Amino acid sequence: MKLIVCGAAGEVTGSCYVLETAQARVMIDFGLHQGGREEDDHNRRLVPPDLSRFDAVVLTHAHIDHIGRLPLLAGAGYSGPIFASRATCDLVPIMLRDTARLQEADAAREARRGREGSRPALPALYTSDEVERTLPQLRHLDMDSLTPVAPGVRVRLVDSGHMLGSASIELRATDGPGKPERVIIFSGDIGPRGVPLLRDPASPAPKDGSRVDLAIMESTYGDRDHRPLADTVEEASAIVREAAWDKQRILIPAFAIGRSQVIIYYLAMLMQSGRAPRFPVHLDSPMAIEAIKLYRAHAQLLDADSLAQLRAGSFPLDMPELHLVKSAEESKLLNDAPGPIAIIAGSGMCNGGRIVHHLRHGLWRKDVHVLIAGYQAAGTLGRQLVNRAPEVRIFGQTIPVRAKIHTLGGFSAHAGRTELIQWAKTLHDASRPARWVLTHGENPQRQSLSAGLAPFIGQAPTLPAYGDASEL
Ligand SMILES: [Zn+2]
Repeated sequence: MKLIVCGAAGEVTGSCYVLETAQARVMIDFGLHQGGREEDDHNRRLVPPDLSRFDAVVLTHAHIDHIGRLPLLAGAGYSGPIFASRATCDLVPIMLRDTARLQEADAAREARRGREGSRPALPALYTSDEVERTLPQLRHLDMDSLTPVAPGVRVRLVDSGHMLGSASIELRATDGPGKPERVIIFSGDIGPRGVPLLRDPASPAPKDGSRVDLAIMESTYGDRDHRPLADTVEEASAIVREAAWDKQRILIPAFAIGRSQVIIYYLAMLMQSGRAPRFPVHLDSPMAIEAIKLYRAHAQLLDADSLAQLRAGSFPLDMPELHLVKSAEESKLLNDAPGPIAIIAGSGMCNGGRIVHHLRHGLWRKDVHVLIAGYQAAGTLGRQLVNRAPEVRIFGQTIPVRAKIHTLGGFSAHAGRTELIQWAKTLHDASRPARWVLTHGENPQRQSLSAGLAPFIGQAPTLPAYGDASEL
C-alpha cells in the first residue's frame, strides 16, 4: 500500500492525503489552497485522480484549508461517506456554505473583469448546489474508538486541541486477510497548550502499544515559539480597560470560529472580575453566533475549567453584555452607538465581511481602537493596518487611519515549535514511528522543525513535494 501527499507539501494550505491499499482508496482531508491566483489555480490543477473512485473520506477538522474542496467530490460523482468527529460534522456545513458564497461572489467579480477584457474569467470552483449535495455524505465518528471506514481500514480520532472537534488520526490498514496491518498517524493541526475552552492536544499513539509505520506531522510554526499567551492577555486587557474608561470604540476583526469565542471568553473574564467596567460587546457575525451554539452543543469537548464552570451553572461564553447582531440592519445601527462599545466581526483579515464597514466608519476617528489578534496575509486590508499605512482604500474611498491599531501576537490556534517537538517526542517514546514526514508548513519552517526533531527521533524526517508517495 502507499500513502500519497496531495497537498500542504511545503505550504500551509490545501491539505490532502490519499491512501491506496490492495482493497481500498481513502482520502484524508481535501482542503482549499488559499492565497492568490496561483493557489486558486492549484485548487483546480492539483487534484487527486479518479475522485469518484474513493471508498471513504476522513477529516481531521473543519478549517477550510482541510475541507474546502470536498464539494469537488460530489461534482465528480463520489457518493460515499465523509467521516469526521461530531463537532466537525456540525461545523462543515457552516464553513462550506460560507465558502461557496465567497466563491460565487469572486466568480461574479471575475466575470465583470473578464467582460472588461483585463484577463480571462475563472468560474467558481464549485457552487452552493454542490455543497448541498456534499453535506448528506457526512458521517460522524465517536472520538477515541477504532472504527472501520473502508475495506481493511480503521481509524481512531483523538482530540488535537486546535479547534472545536479537531482531531489527530490513528489509521490502521491492511491489504487483505492475513496481510500485515500498517499504522499511520496523521497529526492534523496541533493546538497550543493551556488556551481557554479547548483541551490540550492528546497523543494519538496506538493504545495497544503497536509500533507506528508512518507519522505525518504538521510544521506550521516549526521554527518559532509564540509569545506567551498570558502576556498577550495582559496587553489586551490594558487596552480594553483604558478604552472602556475613556468611552471609546474597540473594533476586533476575528475569525468566526475559534478566535471570536476566545475573545468573548476574555472580555467576559475581564468584566466579571471587575478589571474592566461593564460595557456592551457586539458579536456582529452570523457564523460566529452559530459557532457559539456548537460550543454549547459539544460542551463535553471543552477543557476542565470550562466544564467546572458549566457544573457551577454558567457557560463560559455567556455574558450579559454580549449582543448577538444577526441582520445587516442591526449591524449598520452600531455606527451611531455611543462608546464604550466593542464590535467583533469577520473577516479575520479584514478582506471582506462586516468588519470592513465598521473600519470604513471608524478608521478616521481618533477615539477608535482596532485590536488585531490574528494572522494578516499579504495583500489584505488587515496587513495594511498592521503595517501602519497612513491611509487605506475601502470601497473606492480613501480613508485616513487615525484610529489606534494594536497588533497582538500570542492568540495562535497552532502549537509553537517547542510544543510540536514535545508532541513528537511523546509519540516517539510511545510507538517509535519507523518514518516521519513533515507537511503543512512552508519550507523554512519544516526544515527548522526537522532539525529540531532529528536528535529525538534518530532520523531526518522526509519533507515531501506534491505527489510524493510513501510505500508501506
Ligand atoms: Zn486548522
